[in-house]
Amino acid sequence: MFMKKLTPVLAALMLVLSIPAEAAGRPQQLATLSSLEKQDLTFMREEEKLARDVYLALYEQWGLTPFSNISSSEQRHMDAVLQLLRKYRLPDPAANLVLGEFANQELQALYNSLIEQGARSDVDALRVGGFIEETDILDLQDALARNDNTDIDTVYDRLQCGSRNHLRAFAGVLKAITGQDYLAQAMAQQDVDDILAAPRERCGR
Ligand code: ZN
Ligand code: ZN
Repeated sequence: MFMKKLTPVLAALMLVLSIPAEAAGRPQQLATLSSLEKQDLTFMREEEKLARDVYLALYEQWGLTPFSNISSSEQRHMDAVLQLLRKYRLPDPAANLVLGEFANQELQALYNSLIEQGARSDVDALRVGGFIEETDILDLQDALARNDNTDIDTVYDRLQCGSRNHLRAFAGVLKAITGQDYLAQAMAQQDVDDILAAPRERCGR
């Protein structure tokens, strides 16, 4: 009896509840990315791989802790970009590629030359680290300017924040070894100095 009375109420309630449930079940309306935005995402996935792979190789060669710590961080950056590629149903350029292998030939050539440079000495290796981070910051800056999707912006911002921390780490170890201030390699010296003068940042998950 009680249930019978309740049934219409329940039915009405379920109808109301079923509206958002139905909406959630609908395929999500994805923003359409411009071809530049797609290109940037694809490139960033491999640029983060370049950082990870170079640091893993240089860690093996020189055993300097920052290379080990930062390579794990680059793995997370790669994962974050992969999530976006999947979300926008774009192919992963790094799928099935081994360490040191790149689909983008420009990045392949850069990897080869950085590995060669980093093999010369521990100081050269750390300067390679600095160069990668400066380049990453600049490329992310360009990609941010071309992108107008909040989810992608959020990831790019986080990656850039990570790169600033990595640059601080490499420059710090370099200074400890050489006693000299870090010289900018890709960015303007003033922009690098501003980053190095600021404390380590929290970059989100
Ligand atoms: Zn990174
Ligand atoms: Zn980095």
